[in-house]
Amino acid sequence: MSGFVEKPEPQQVPGLTHLHTGKVRDLYQNEAGDLLMVASDRMSAYDWVLPTEIPDKGRVLTQLSLWWFELLADLVPNHVISEELPEGAPADWAGRTLVCRSLAMVPVECVARGYLAGSGLVEYNASRTVCGLALPEGLSNGSELPAPIFTPATKAAVGDHDENVSYEEVARRIGAETAAQLRQATLAVYGRARDIARERGIILADTKFEFGFAGDELVIADEVLTPDSSRFWPAATWEPGRAQPSYDKQYVRDWLTSPASGWDRTSERPPPALPQEVVDATRGKYIEAYEQLTGNSWS
Ligand code: ATP
Ligand code: MG
Repeated sequence: MSGFVEKPEPQQVPGLTHLHTGKVRDLYQNEAGDLLMVASDRMSAYDWVLPTEIPDKGRVLTQLSLWWFELLADLVPNHVISEELPEGAPADWAGRTLVCRSLAMVPVECVARGYLAGSGLVEYNASRTVCGLALPEGLSNGSELPAPIFTPATKAAVGDHDENVSYEEVARRIGAETAAQLRQATLAVYGRARDIARERGIILADTKFEFGFAGDELVIADEVLTPDSSRFWPAATWEPGRAQPSYDKQYVRDWLTSPASGWDRTSERPPPALPQEVVDATRGKYIEAYEQLTGNSWS
């Protein structure tokens, strides 16, 4: 089982058409045909959108994405038009709403990995490859790879796991030229972001981008380089050979799988509400990532 414990109702705003309720973002279209991406405070873990929200998460994701989009603009154009709220929009959309160009999305999750973790580690341990790419002996959990790699995946519906696909399969599906463009853009953006994060004491282990086309122009879309789309590790405590502490959902996952939650994630039952201390600690981690990367204080 998976999905929403309780699927939120879309807002009724004059001039906006509700398009989609994603795990984290709600999508609307305005009368000009542009997209409004409203990031909620929803959190997903273990294939579920949890019944408890993390206050400020939507604003942190939105403001961090905006900060990165600007820093990356000379490498790749992005989908952001403005942060302007349409008349009649709920006041609490402020800071977590982006008006974006509506793109023809490329149906590939563009993942860049510079370090070994997650599904990459599992595959490496079994076959010394990640997404079919051969890697040297001697790497362990959290090791830096000899060079960053592009490991595309196909986007899953709510509740399903994304599925890694080979570069050749991506080229077959979307054409060799577009595949090459995606790989080039993904690795260029990853490389820039990794260096910026590293200067600020954060290791960008891996990250996922989504791209779309506006006519012939390849545009980076969705959210970028947030704790939801990336593995961030504190550089100070990085030590290959063990799981790295990270800025993302660790508190939530640890609590959900602990006896305290009373939840069995292999059961059909939805996850329980999060206790206040888990909410607070998770909120703190999102804000810490924002502050450490941008150098701005959150408030
Ligand atoms: P799902 O919608 O299946 O739950 P998700 O959890 O990734 O997937 P969200 O991140 O909550 O969804 O919602 C964002 C949605 O908007 C994604 O489906 C993403 O592909 C899409 N999207 C992002 N930017 C654009 C854009 N500029 N034009 C069109 N679609 C976009
Ligand atoms: Mg998404």
